[in-house]
Amino acid sequence: MEIKKQEFTKPLIIAGPCSAESQEQLLATAKDLEDKATIFRAGVWKPRTRPNSFEGEGQKALEWLKVVKQETPLKVATEVANAQHVEACLKAEIDVLWLGARTTVNPFYVQEIAEALRGVDVKVMIKNPLHPELSLWMGAIERLNQVGVSQLSAIHRGFFTLEKSAFRNEPKWEIPIKLKRLVPELPIICDPSHISGAPQMLSEVSQTAMDLNMDGLMIETHYNPSVALSDAQQQITPNELGVLLDNLILRTSTNANTEFRTLLNNLRTEIDAIDKKLVDIVGQRTEIVREIGRYKKENAVTILQIERWFEILKSRKDWGHDTNLDPQMVGELFELIHKHSVLTQTHILNK
Ligand code: PEP
Ligand code: MN
Repeated sequence: MEIKKQEFTKPLIIAGPCSAESQEQLLATAKDLEDKATIFRAGVWKPRTRPNSFEGEGQKALEWLKVVKQETPLKVATEVANAQHVEACLKAEIDVLWLGARTTVNPFYVQEIAEALRGVDVKVMIKNPLHPELSLWMGAIERLNQVGVSQLSAIHRGFFTLEKSAFRNEPKWEIPIKLKRLVPELPIICDPSHISGAPQMLSEVSQTAMDLNMDGLMIETHYNPSVALSDAQQQITPNELGVLLDNLILRTSTNANTEFRTLLNNLRTEIDAIDKKLVDIVGQRTEIVREIGRYKKENAVTILQIERWFEILKSRKDWGHDTNLDPQMVGELFELIHKHSVLTQTHILNK
C-alpha cells in the first residue's frame, strides 16, 4: 500500500456533532471548538437503523460546513455513503471524507465510493466495519488506496456485540493493534463516542487509545447535547471536551533515560525466557496429544469426549484463579490449545 505521510500534531483532535442540524448549531459548536480541535466533523447524511428517524439535512448542510470553514480555522469532515455524496462533497470542497461502519461492511458500496474518488487525492478516513472482521476493514482501505487515495486513515469506533457489555460498541483493541501491525504507516484515530455510547466512559476510552499510541481522537461534540437529533446520549459540550483533553495523560512511546531502558530490557529478557519455556512446553503437550491420537485410532475411540473437555476448561480456570489470572484469558487460551489438539488428532485419525 502507498500511504502518504500526513502532517499533524498528535493527538489529532476531530470534534463536532453527530449530525449537522442547522447553520446556527454548526457555527456555534465550531466557534467553541476552534482552540480544541483541528477538524470539525458533522454528519450530513445519517445512516439510521430504523426509518422515520432524523436522516440528516442532506446536501444543503454542506453549505453550512463551508461557512464553518470560512469562519473558523477548522477543516471540515463528513460521512459519504455513495458516489453522489462524494461528488457533492468534492464540489463543496469538504476537506476530509469518511466511510461509516455501515458502509465499510459492504465491498460494493466501498468500490462505488472508490470509483467516484479515482484520481482525486482527498483525505479519507475509514471506520471499522460493524462486526469484528479485520479483513473487511483492510479491504476497504485497499480499495480506496488502489484508486489513488493516499491520504488515508482508519477510525476505530468499536464493534457490535450481542454479548452483555458496558460499551455501546466493544473496543476489541486487539483489532486496531493488528491493523497497525499490518499497515504501520496508516494513522489510526479512535472514536470513543461510538465505543462508549455515553459520556461517562469517554475519558477512560480516550486515555486507553492514547496509551496504545493511537494518532488521534474523534469525539462527538454538540453545543447543547440534550436537543441533538441523533446520538444525543453520547455527545458532550465543547467545554466538556476541553476538560477531557486537559486531563489526558500523553505518554511518549520511548524514553531516552538509560535507567528506564536498562530495566525495561532486563524485564523483556525475562519475558523472552519465559515465552521460550512456554513454547517448549506447548510442544511437549502436543507430542502427548499425538500419542493419545494414535492410541485412540488403534482403539477406535472418538477424538472428542465432551465431559473431558468440560473438565479441562473448569480445572484450568480454577488453577488460573490461584495464579491471579483472568478466567476469560485462561478459557480463551485453552480453547485455542484444544482447537489445535483436536485438529492434530483429526489428522492422525484420517491418515
Ligand atoms: C457517526 O460518526 O456519527 C456514525 C454514524 O458513526 P458509525 O459509522 O461509526 O456508526
Ligand atoms: Mn453518531
